Amino acid sequence: MRFTELPRPTRVVFGAGRFAELGEEVARLGARRVVVVTTPGRKALGERAAGSLGERCAGVLPDAVEHVPAEVADAGVARARELGADGCVAVGGGSAIGLGKAIARDTGVPLVAVPTTYSGSEMTPVWGRTEDGVKTTGRDERVRPAVVVYDPELTTSLPVATSATSAGNALAHAVEALWASDATPVTRLEATESARALVDALPRVAAAPADPDARADLLYGAWLAGAGLAVTTMGLHHRLAHVLGGGLDLPHAGTHTVLLPHVLAWTLPAAPEAAAALERALGGEPVAVLRRTFADLGAPTTLAELGADEERSWTSQLDVLAERAVSPPPAHPRVPTASDVRTLLEEARRG
Ligand code: NAD
Repeated sequence: MRFTELPRPTRVVFGAGRFAELGEEVARLGARRVVVVTTPGRKALGERAAGSLGERCAGVLPDAVEHVPAEVADAGVARARELGADGCVAVGGGSAIGLGKAIARDTGVPLVAVPTTYSGSEMTPVWGRTEDGVKTTGRDERVRPAVVVYDPELTTSLPVATSATSAGNALAHAVEALWASDATPVTRLEATESARALVDALPRVAAAPADPDARADLLYGAWLAGAGLAVTTMGLHHRLAHVLGGGLDLPHAGTHTVLLPHVLAWTLPAAPEAAAALERALGGEPVAVLRRTFADLGAPTTLAELGADEERSWTSQLDVLAERAVSPPPAHPRVPTASDVRTLLEEARRG
């Protein structure tokens, strides 16, 4: 056994109703002029957050969109500077947290995340930015949230379809943390427990979307998945999701959900320990379990459904995307060629 375990500096506050403690958490950080960022769809929640911060809130920015487009990030940073922000609270899914991270990185203010999806971004020091069709990601300690407030009550409004794909995003984090070359005994425990909790809770959320226990279990699985992703190196799966997200503007969570069974089927023969751990956690052959789970939820199963079609020049883009996905080669248990990636993507497009 040989591993390097990294510190986990984020303070995690988890439980139904704990959104009410947001003001206290911001006060603990000593911030006095906080900018609240969110997506247009979560604006009312952003305003609730601002209300609970009272005089500590300098303004609400409901402009976040997916994949952190450069112009949205730069406008957010400029607005935070104008407001004299000394802290940032991101309320919403990965898109809101992505904009919060852009502000934290460029201004150096601490970030507090209140996630309302299962993206897991709140637990990672990973930032993203999309410019001219290319999504760049990197790691920077300034973007790692100082505090995360997980309140499952904020997630009961997430439609079942979005819950399914968002949980697919979380499952992808767990899977990649499991087979990462820098996985540790702790990340393996987190990843397998995360996968178990997510697959167990998904059908319960589909049956009763407001079930507080099922919602808490999904959020718990997402937290563990994000925590593992934070300290391990992402592989081919994330490379593909970023290449497709940046190049074709495909939705991030849906793309993860469609790709995951394909990447698993291609990779698991080269990662027998991950395959066995996942099989134990899911109670069956991983690819079959995931296909069944997603199909039962009516989640997308083809990239074509997500918009990977001729309108977005799929055929002519495929070679470029495949090259991008292997240059430089991702850290992965099975090293892909551009031709492997083309085949995998074409299969994922058709399902
Ligand atoms: P998102 O934040 O865009 O949310 C999806 C949709 O759901 C949005 O319309 C949003 O308004 C809505 N929504 C969010 N919470 C809701 C709720 N509780 N009830 C009803 N509707 C709700 O999408 P996402 O999948 O959460 O995040 C995707 C983004 O996050 C991508 O840009 C991706 O690259 C990024 N991401 C980053 C990391 C990282 O570590 N840096 C990890 C995962 C994802």
